[in-house]
Amino acid sequence: MFVKDLTFPVAKIKGIGKVSAADFASLSVEKASDLITLYPRSYDDRTRLSSLNEIGAEGGKLNSAVEIVEHSHYMSRGQRVLKMTCRELSSGRTLYLHCFGRSFMESAYPAGTSWFINADVTRTGSVFSASSFTLGASEEQAGLGRILPVYPLSGSLTQKAVRRAVNSILSVKYIRFDDELPLSLIEKHGLLHTDEAIRQIHNPQNAELLDRAKKTLAYTELFYLELKLLRTKDSAVKTGPVRPSSLEQKVISSLPFTLTADQEKCLDEIRADMDYGHMNRLLQGDVGSGKTLVAWLSALHIIAQGCQAAFMAPTELLARQHAEGAAQLLKDTGVRVAFLTGDVKGKERGYLLDALKKGEIDLAIGTHALFSKDVAFKKLGLVIIDEQHRFGVEQRQALSGKGRRVHVLMMSATPIPRTLAMTVFGSMDVSTIRTMPAGRKPVITHIVDEKNRERMYASISVEFSRGHQAYFVYPRIDDEGESSLKDVTSMFSFLQAKYPEVPSALIHSRLSEEEKIRILDDFRAKKLMYLVSTSVVEVGIDVPDATCMIIEHAERFGLAALHQLRGRVGRSSLQSWCFLVYYGNLTEEARSRLVVMRESTDGFRIAEEDLLIRGPGEFTGNRQSGYLRLKMASLTEDVELMAQAREDAQAVLAEDKGLISAGNSMIRQLID
Ligand code: ADP
Ligand code: MG
Repeated sequence: MFVKDLTFPVAKIKGIGKVSAADFASLSVEKASDLITLYPRSYDDRTRLSSLNEIGAEGGKLNSAVEIVEHSHYMSRGQRVLKMTCRELSSGRTLYLHCFGRSFMESAYPAGTSWFINADVTRTGSVFSASSFTLGASEEQAGLGRILPVYPLSGSLTQKAVRRAVNSILSVKYIRFDDELPLSLIEKHGLLHTDEAIRQIHNPQNAELLDRAKKTLAYTELFYLELKLLRTKDSAVKTGPVRPSSLEQKVISSLPFTLTADQEKCLDEIRADMDYGHMNRLLQGDVGSGKTLVAWLSALHIIAQGCQAAFMAPTELLARQHAEGAAQLLKDTGVRVAFLTGDVKGKERGYLLDALKKGEIDLAIGTHALFSKDVAFKKLGLVIIDEQHRFGVEQRQALSGKGRRVHVLMMSATPIPRTLAMTVFGSMDVSTIRTMPAGRKPVITHIVDEKNRERMYASISVEFSRGHQAYFVYPRIDDEGESSLKDVTSMFSFLQAKYPEVPSALIHSRLSEEEKIRILDDFRAKKLMYLVSTSVVEVGIDVPDATCMIIEHAERFGLAALHQLRGRVGRSSLQSWCFLVYYGNLTEEARSRLVVMRESTDGFRIAEEDLLIRGPGEFTGNRQSGYLRLKMASLTEDVELMAQAREDAQAVLAEDKGLISAGNSMIRQLID
């Protein structure tokens, strides 16, 4: 049988009454199979002898041997309590055992005798004592020499009760679990058979078998996860010659630079998707890696086939910037570009909607307003979503309703480690731009104690004199209430006094869209030389002559946000700087974040660090998503194992797509 075949309710297990059944239910344990897969959250390893020397102020477990030195008594709450003074054999240190209600111990453990002991020891200064302990003549009697599982608990459940319940199932004679993996994979990775893995996870014989059991169960989970993902993927054959249309070629040859190899590669993948299958692809690349250009060329590819394309940006501001960029790039191509946001109203809106419906617009650029109910396309072929993680699932789904089998290209500047990306984005394909356009100089990053900010102001001053621009960023003002936050406005006055000759503006999320747009236009036109802002500059703004990014309270930003912000500079061949200004004493974690920023400009490296700090949920926006709820494997820690599982799942499907061979029969039975 398979584990999943144990379908009887845990309430049927001897010793489990109504109350414990309810407690188990709150741990999502209802059937016996759930109990078998209620894996221990940790282990109490009593196989290794320890010593009082290892026990610090917080106390701890002792597995050791002691000699009884003497007995004494004292009164506590009207009761006579036996106190046994012991000497630990290995260290010679003294341990006091308080035997509440256990006066019989005086005769059972006479002075001068030696015993194995397992105890929860508390330490006060240099005095060690324990009131919860087991003494035994052998290690076994003292409960030593074993690795005990420690389960998650709920309500009145105890470790003992859970262990007993699990073992009452495992000790049933006819229960033997069938393998959940083909033998070839078990052998390839040195895994255990499923039955043994289950038994070892609950009753580990030794640390080595426990490790193999964990690996087996984690690998099994990942293997099925990957297999399911691969199977839901579009199975159309996506190969064949891919040619850029003459429209694309024309634009490419008009560029003042050549495409990077990665841009070319991604475009090949995108064109192949669109020509030979159905595209559902994530294009990821660091800030400034040139994703937007790839997006426009992809749009041209589908437009050349007589379809329309839509480009959705997360804010009005960005949508507008993109619309201007596209109009500029495509001005000699005859491609008809339109800009549509919630702000476009009245007659103009009516005219636009009509043109979209009639197919008189080839490329529509806007916010999610593009997908509101009244918008209809004549023949929508491709939807591009910029900064995809800023949109909710529903918004992303709304667009697929606007045409039949619309190709979808999502873009993300929050790079995700490759293996993880494949898994969290499920059935999506992933294209990655890894290398930056040539000629970019890595941004130089300094960590600045706010008390030493003067030198920083001096170097920024030099940049102003060279005609270069700067951003000063503060944490959002909508996080108000924290009085320690520097008020953007007062800092703005401070900077104006510092640089009286330099034109500047304050920009924050409470300004109207028009005001923001006007300020950014002036900044781009160099009528303004620096912006003081809340983190509104976080995404998308592209001003090549901006060379300084000053982030105040850098210790309050996450790595991803810091990296995004820094990506606003270093966008041309000019040398750029980023100053991470911190306040007060840094926590260990904050310091390591800032150091990661200083040491690396590689978004992928930063993403990996971030992943370790925050966990994968943050990357996908679907922490709740069912398929990512793993019991043994960790998407964060088992990246290596996940890559193997994916490779193996691919190989299995390549050889036996329908999973019909005898060796794969268990996969067929287990996959749904
Ligand atoms: P992303 O959207 O990935 O953050 P952008 O598309 O905004 O990056 O590109 C940043 C800048 O790099 C833009 O000014 C763009 O024109 C320029 N760029 C794009 N591709 C190249 C290339 N192959 N060589 C040089 N510059 C490029
Ligand atoms: Mg971009």
